[in-house]
Amino acid sequence: TEACLTAIDGADALNAFVHKTPDIALERARAADDRIKAGEAPAMCGIPVGIKDLFCTSGVPSQAASGILDGFRPEYESTVSQNLADAGAVMLGKLNMDEFAMGSSNETSVYGNAVNPWRRGDDDTNLTPGGSSGGSASAVAADLCLAATGTDTGGSIRQPAAFTGITGIKPTYGRCSRWGIVAFASSLDQAGPMTKDVRDAAIMLGAMCSHDPKDSTSADLPVPDFEAALTGDIKGKTIGIPREYHMDGMPQEIEDLWTRGKEMLADAGAKIVDITLPHTKYALPAYYVIAPAEASSNLARYDGVRYGHRAKLAQGDGITEMYEKTRAEGFGDEVKRRVMIGTYVLSAGFYDAYYNRARKVRALIKKDFEDVFAQGVDAILTPATPSAAFGLGEMKDADPVRMYLNDVFTVTVNLAGLPGIAVPAGLDKQGLPLGLQLIGRPWEEADLLNTAYALE
Ligand code: GLN
Repeated sequence: TEACLTAIDGADALNAFVHKTPDIALERARAADDRIKAGEAPAMCGIPVGIKDLFCTSGVPSQAASGILDGFRPEYESTVSQNLADAGAVMLGKLNMDEFAMGSSNETSVYGNAVNPWRRGDDDTNLTPGGSSGGSASAVAADLCLAATGTDTGGSIRQPAAFTGITGIKPTYGRCSRWGIVAFASSLDQAGPMTKDVRDAAIMLGAMCSHDPKDSTSADLPVPDFEAALTGDIKGKTIGIPREYHMDGMPQEIEDLWTRGKEMLADAGAKIVDITLPHTKYALPAYYVIAPAEASSNLARYDGVRYGHRAKLAQGDGITEMYEKTRAEGFGDEVKRRVMIGTYVLSAGFYDAYYNRARKVRALIKKDFEDVFAQGVDAILTPATPSAAFGLGEMKDADPVRMYLNDVFTVTVNLAGLPGIAVPAGLDKQGLPLGLQLIGRPWEEADLLNTAYALE
């Protein structure tokens, strides 16, 4: 813990930690020592971790990297961060992210972007660590902590993991409790671990998840011993390669990476089959209707009364002006864009044309996966992202749709509620990490982690 705290103090340039909690960390580290001396050794005992700013942590600033939550210190702890603390994990502080987890580059944060510790060859351009869990990815990749929590609504664990050469798993929807995690799109949001390797991911996932009566979508299922499942034996498993993920204009090195992944799994004894997921091309547009719709509803609670920021009011201003001024000042541009899209697609005149249609598309995407699993496919292999990490500022002011295209391989998994893992799988020509994604059957994270283990 002390070594991590020193490393964090020396790494302000990465802007990964936005609130440091050294006092809490040292106190918990001492408590972990005592537990070990008493012969107790829970799964994460004494392991220093970072917590994404989206998780409410009792008495510690929790702002979802938004100005509207300025100064907000919750009086309660999210179930996931509480589970980690109960398992002995030591919180070092809160990690940078895109505002309300909306983004793919960590550039929408009120704290400014986090920085990827990787560089392109000897070029000193600062690269994005990805988003929205960019601070988590940067901190783990730069050894500021041993692991971090992330959340993933459309790829926010897997894309930053791929951009920084680490491992990240989004479990099945319902595996981790969403209680105490600031909501973005409630039917898509899931927490998960971001770690150095698959074994750490297995250990940390086991410590994070639990059935939680405080989240009505939390699954009442036993939590398997994910680490015990890591045998590396995948003989006889069937791995599907979806033809729709061969996108036009995809760089050759991503194709090559994918081929290498197939070969590694085949060498380990898996059977590789071509599959079709015919509705894939509708996933991104459906996601960018459903996620903003849910976000616009979830973000209605930031009214200047209950949490964080309230605008200074002029003589004669009433409650409407308070809402308007507070929200205009407190939210960043991307969040406002999502709220506008969301309220538009949910409005009476357009509800059927956009929101209901997107829900139908979502059902078809889910069915595509069910069909493939019913044919005996155990896991699906795809690239995690369409490119390696890009330069900070390169996409920020471009057409927002260009930024949304980063999520093309990851959003299907959230729409279908499935588990997905990104694992590091080599470097591109410029020496940047690239990741592969494996998608598994619902609730079979143990099996998925074991297949990912064979790719390591
Ligand atoms: N990049 C996607 C978005 O901006 C996904 C974000 C996430 O998974 N939280 O919505």
